[in-house]
Amino acid sequence: MRRVSVLGATGSIGRNTLDVIRTLGGRRAFRVVALTGAGNVEALAASALEFGAEIAVTADPARLDDLRAALEGSGVEAAAGPAALVEAASRPADWVMAAIVGSAGLAPTLAAAGTGATIALANKECLVSAGGLFLSTAKAAGARVIPVDSEHSAIFQCLDANAGAAPVRFILTASGGPFRDWPLEKMRDVTPKAAAAHPNWDMGIKISIDSASMFNKALEMIEARWLFGATAETLEVVVHPQSVIHSAVAYADGSMLAQLGSPDMRTAIGYALTFPERSELPVAPLDLVALGRLDFSAPDETRFPAIRLARAAMDRSELAGAALNAAKEAALGAFIAGRIGFLDMARVVEIVLDRLATGEPARDLEDVFAMDREARRLAEAEMAESAA
Ligand code: NAD
Ligand code: MG
Repeated sequence: MRRVSVLGATGSIGRNTLDVIRTLGGRRAFRVVALTGAGNVEALAASALEFGAEIAVTADPARLDDLRAALEGSGVEAAAGPAALVEAASRPADWVMAAIVGSAGLAPTLAAAGTGATIALANKECLVSAGGLFLSTAKAAGARVIPVDSEHSAIFQCLDANAGAAPVRFILTASGGPFRDWPLEKMRDVTPKAAAAHPNWDMGIKISIDSASMFNKALEMIEARWLFGATAETLEVVVHPQSVIHSAVAYADGSMLAQLGSPDMRTAIGYALTFPERSELPVAPLDLVALGRLDFSAPDETRFPAIRLARAAMDRSELAGAALNAAKEAALGAFIAGRIGFLDMARVVEIVLDRLATGEPARDLEDVFAMDREARRLAEAEMAESAA
């Protein structure tokens, strides 16, 4: 029986992953090793009981007693805290879904890759902040990395169908988010609630706001650099409001291959789980006639500077990505807390990137964490100064 773990099991990707596992036979077909979550221990415990997990881990030590109580007598182990997350992620498994949000996913995802398990990678921050380190760890351990981000899953699927030839161009599609056509003036006063309402995808709050600012696309550009060797030159971002073409690759003979589907993450999750096979999933089939048309345009980098910032970081070392992601996380946190405006997020990230020397590769995770801390410190200082 295949042993599977789901890191970030209570989130949007995690719940969809458990749904796919359930659809494909649940505990009759899979042995669930570790499930992890953060504050929502009720949901974590319920899933651990449903799937008969070996261990359930909450990131929050203050919730360990609640988790223990919910699992009492079931035989499911309970644990808490960052070290326990890494320990659970290191347990032998054949397949690990990495779906913790943000840089908190770095250490557990790296630990899972170090075991040689197949990594279904949703936690894009791991590649953005520590791409070289993560890939060399995975390679040394013989771990296969299968992208789950819908765009990268699309490219992965296109490459799989065309093994042998290298693309000359990567086309990363972007919905453009809820403010795609808004004038700059109006974007200044956007609230976190409005920014979190994505037109096509139902996702966690952070990635939803990142989609509205196009910082999500910025992270995905750097993600494509590590996964596929895309460069600032060969990568094109195209705004495609319907989110039907998930991404595409172009070949030297003029041919372009794209992957299309309903905006439902279960397709990419299922593909990562059963690769190279495809499984039957309850995903709405695409009806091209009902869709009628698909639209495309270039992103406006004046209103969405994140794209420009990512292009600058793409061809630099992974520490540039670590700085970009950490500054972005700090600015995003401040925006959610109402301390800065929507457009201030890109301004803060740009200032941090300009000030930090990020030409070096990361030798180890400590280098990444040091850059992460420094970028957050600078971002906080900048935000405090402009608030004063
Ligand atoms: P989410 O906020 O819905 O869920 C995040 C998960 O991480 C939850 O299980 C939460 O408990 C856990 N978590 C939060 N803080 C933690 C911490 N400090 N330590 C350990 N665990 C913690 O997020 P999501 O939308 O499911 O996104 C997860 C990852 O997948 C992100 O990296 C995101 O960029 C990526 N992704 C998501 C989607 C999507 O459709 N939601 C699509 C592509 C990529
Ligand atoms: Mg995506």
